Amino acid sequence: MLPVFGHLNPDTDAITSALVYARLLTRQGTEARAYRLGDLNFETPFVLREAGIDAPELLTLLPAGAAVALVDHNESSQSLPNLAELMVTHVVDHHKLGNLSTSQPPYLRFEPVGCTATLLLKLHREANLTVEPLDAKLMLSAILSDTLHFRSPTTTQDDREAVAFLAPIAGVNDVEAYALAMFAAKSDLGDTPAEQLLKMDYKVFPFGEPAQHWGLGVIETTNPAYVFGRQAELLAAMTAAKAQDGLDGVLLSVVDILNETNRMLVPDDAEAAVVRAAFGAQTQDHVADLGSRISRKKQIVPALEKHFAS
Ligand code: MN
Ligand code: MN
Repeated sequence: MLPVFGHLNPDTDAITSALVYARLLTRQGTEARAYRLGDLNFETPFVLREAGIDAPELLTLLPAGAAVALVDHNESSQSLPNLAELMVTHVVDHHKLGNLSTSQPPYLRFEPVGCTATLLLKLHREANLTVEPLDAKLMLSAILSDTLHFRSPTTTQDDREAVAFLAPIAGVNDVEAYALAMFAAKSDLGDTPAEQLLKMDYKVFPFGEPAQHWGLGVIETTNPAYVFGRQAELLAAMTAAKAQDGLDGVLLSVVDILNETNRMLVPDDAEAAVVRAAFGAQTQDHVADLGSRISRKKQIVPALEKHFAS
């Protein structure tokens, strides 16, 4: 049974693409099973409820040599801690290639599209397989989530076409209303502890040589006022995470989904200097206005990579 999983601190794409790809591999003769590498965010349970499927089981450890299929990530810093000892047989992803290395020739499908699910739909169509309503609902949800319903600069024509194709199969008549319901669920953060809010959509990246390690969090919300109401707690959580995880810097983007803006929390002078150099943005009272740079993948990480390379 081939385990299929997305990245740590899973988002909707990491969970639903694992479910869909496991079902697809199984239909194609490779018995596979979806797992998750962490707790769900607030959006994904809404999606799974809508689709009528349970969350995949938590996976924390696999023995060295075990075969695995990765979706929605390829970097070891975002995967199982012993990824380097595992045998990666499949990767379907839409992120930059990191430090992936394999012992066998793997199946790889990478395209610069807005969502892993867009690639999974292509795999269905290329294999002449019908798309089941459950899979359609999961893929549709992932694309709306990753592209913020086409607001993100990562959105491609392929993502738009995939949503148009999937919506009728999924039984979603009003895509805009469905996307807004997803975003409302995601924004309903309640009294979630600040450490958990920080790590909900959070990835560690190595930058430069010798590598510095930075933790980059994102909170995508329709209610940024709520998040800034908890600014002091979040800044304390960021400082704690930096010390605890031995990081060189931690940044948290607060993305206003509906207005398509990013105001970044900056805990310390060291981070503020990097934010100024990499983005030309000043930090005031621990907040830097990143304007319309709402995509970590396309706008935040590349600018930091460039900064640390120079
Ligand atoms: Mn993801
Ligand atoms: Mn994704």
